[in-house]
Amino acid sequence: MQGKIIKGISGFYYVRVSLSVKNEVNGIYECKAKGIFRNQSKSPLVGDLVEIEILDQEKKKGNIENILPRKNILKRPAVANIDQALVFFALKYPNPSYNLLDRFLVMMERLQLPILLCFNKEDLVKEEDVKKIHEIYDPCGYPLFFCSAKDEMGLMNVRSQLLGKTTAIAGPSGVGKSTFVNVIQKSCIQETGEISEKIKRGKNTTRHTQLIEIGINSYIMDTPGFSSLGIEEIEKEELTKYYPDFVPYEVNCKFARCSHTKETICGIKKAVEDGNISKIRYNNYLLLYNELKEKRKY
Ligand code: GDP
Ligand code: ZN
Repeated sequence: MQGKIIKGISGFYYVRVSLSVKNEVNGIYECKAKGIFRNQSKSPLVGDLVEIEILDQEKKKGNIENILPRKNILKRPAVANIDQALVFFALKYPNPSYNLLDRFLVMMERLQLPILLCFNKEDLVKEEDVKKIHEIYDPCGYPLFFCSAKDEMGLMNVRSQLLGKTTAIAGPSGVGKSTFVNVIQKSCIQETGEISEKIKRGKNTTRHTQLIEIGINSYIMDTPGFSSLGIEEIEKEELTKYYPDFVPYEVNCKFARCSHTKETICGIKKAVEDGNISKIRYNNYLLLYNELKEKRKY
């Protein structure tokens, strides 16, 4: 039987086995991974596709027999087989920190995850605020969504991008991630008639990495750890690679390894002047570049 590990707590792995209707083995199985992996120096991760042996159908207990090949592994938090990242911010309360937002984008680019960018709390702003976001982020080419999780508006477009995938959601606290996930999960329950564990985001409870089921074969990873970003691991020379909006203009830089900082003939600086790349994006690039440069001195 094949399934996906959605949660791991002290030696137990919770394996979701097919969410299809009329399937007897349907459900979440509490599994152990007995011995077999030790000689392979491999231990199961949340997100793994596994083969399990069912030990007790009634009590839904099983044993993990095999881990299928992984597409990727994220280290912090440790999780396997993430298909894409949903970078989630609010338009207001809190106002978006573009610096933080770009850091999230850089990290996800570095992990080679396709990125979706969503701005919540659209109910609190005017059309011109939305337009401003378009101006900054359209040149990046990321699918861009606006919604109000509280009013359940604008959610269907983004939801359709999540179906059939495992998505890591990343964003600062207070932007409405839990509200969003709860609403998305609710529409899943309505469709499948099945209730899996509801999202619990208690502020004081220990939080384990887990996948929240939002549809058939569709999961959102609740990522508490994503607020601490491993930006410091980046070399300043590689930074430019993670700015898709810079790419079309790099051919106009005089030097192949242009840093887009102090060079006089620079395609990126020209594109910022011409309004083809957002000043906000460029200024945050400079901040980050200098931060990475400073780090080298220690
Ligand atoms: P999280 O920390 O990112 O998980 O954010 P929460 O889901 O806990 O939401 C933080 C606050 O924002 C709560 O008071 C929510 O009611 C509120 N909130 C969430 N979504 C919206 C929205 O679309 N519009 C407005 N006005 N408030 C929202
Ligand atoms: Zn340049």
